[in-house]
Amino acid sequence: MCALTAGQRGRIVQVIDHANKVGKKILMSGGGRCNFTNTGTTAANFISANPHFCKSALARYTPSDFIEMVERHGIAYHEKELGQLFCDISSKQIVRMLLDECADAGVQIRTDCGVQQIERGADGFRVRTAQGLFHSASLVIATGGLSIPSMGATGFGYEVARSFGHELLPTRAGLVPLTLSGKHQERFAELSGVALPVEARCNGQSFRNFMLITHRGISGPAILQISSYWQPGNDLRLDLLPDHDAAQWLRQMKSERGASELRTVLSEVMPRRLALRLCEQWLKDKPVRQFDEPELKAAASLLSDFPLVASGTEGYRTAEVTLGGVDTRKVSSATMESQLVPGLHFIGEVLDVTGWLGGYNFQWAWASGRAAGMAA
Ligand SMILES: Cc1cc2nc3c(=O)[nH]c(=O)nc-3n(C[C@H](O)[C@H](O)[C@H](O)COP(=O)(O)OP(=O)(O)OC[C@H]3O[C@@H](n4cnc5c(N)ncnc54)[C@H](O)[C@@H]3O)c2cc1C
Repeated sequence: MCALTAGQRGRIVQVIDHANKVGKKILMSGGGRCNFTNTGTTAANFISANPHFCKSALARYTPSDFIEMVERHGIAYHEKELGQLFCDISSKQIVRMLLDECADAGVQIRTDCGVQQIERGADGFRVRTAQGLFHSASLVIATGGLSIPSMGATGFGYEVARSFGHELLPTRAGLVPLTLSGKHQERFAELSGVALPVEARCNGQSFRNFMLITHRGISGPAILQISSYWQPGNDLRLDLLPDHDAAQWLRQMKSERGASELRTVLSEVMPRRLALRLCEQWLKDKPVRQFDEPELKAAASLLSDFPLVASGTEGYRTAEVTLGGVDTRKVSSATMESQLVPGLHFIGEVLDVTGWLGGYNFQWAWASGRAAGMAA
């Protein structure tokens, strides 16, 4: 996006990528259909130590702007849920679109081109690569985060930033499954494959969506979302009956289905295997009419505010994003240019701007790329 924008301005642009092809994360995204934007994107959908930083670029290149390009290239798309737009056919179409736009703008692209050294002199940047030495007035670092190292992710952008005097905020895996261990894992053992809607809550944030229990822990959109707000030791709570007021529902069961065991009525509103495990492990399993009010309140509290002790995350191997990164406080929010080194820009995930699940991360990549491309 940055390259095609700068190319359209008449700049001579060279893209350098060490991978054997560009846009690998686009190709693998959204299950192969690329969730390329979210129509509801606002700054509130991003995590950053500097929450205002992303506003300017997002306002100047909106989801509608990207959709306009997608439509101009005849790419069919659909909204899945909550403003998330996906290609009908394949993520390859998004990469093709960007490559075609780059070609039209005269952008040169080099793949399999590792960067060995970057220096800045009086005449700009010198980038020594496996395919020769390049000189440029501007240098844009768009090397992403640490997620999915097998796809070519490296900490290269962070090293460049540090070498030019930029501060880095601690990085960690985001949008990632959480792991359970010890007795917490044992209690969920045999529930692998169970999926249910939940509301996941941590550190003042909550997400309502599906959770999937896996053999290692928990995953699914609600968990991926909350994982970006969770750190080891933090309190994580799950509403296992997000469509009900648990206390009210239990009182109703007590009056209408008093002779039924708790496990029976619970199995009607959540997966049976989970209902059975909850009744074996945490809840009293007896006919609902035998629950007195304190017992009923305790059961409701467990169902609507279940404390889950996660031991960690699956890490960068499966994380969709990297939280933290280049501190934005020394980067211009208008142009993405370093305030320390004129001509040096940072865009996309390498910056400390991390979106929620749902197309926000690509919208940030497009918008920040566009902002830098207008200036670099
Ligand atoms: C499995 C998966 C699915 C995802 N699905 C979605 C989705 O549907 N919607 C969404 O919004 N977001 C999604 N994301 C997040 C999204 O892919 C990223 O936030 C986005 O790609 C970041 O763009 P970027 O340009 O900053 O970095 P990247 O897309 O990671 O690109 C970085 C580029 O830099 C190159 N590079 C790295 N190091 C070097 C080096 N040393 N020298 C030369 N080149 C280098 C890489 O090869 C790569 O081409 C997904 C992520 C993953 C992992």
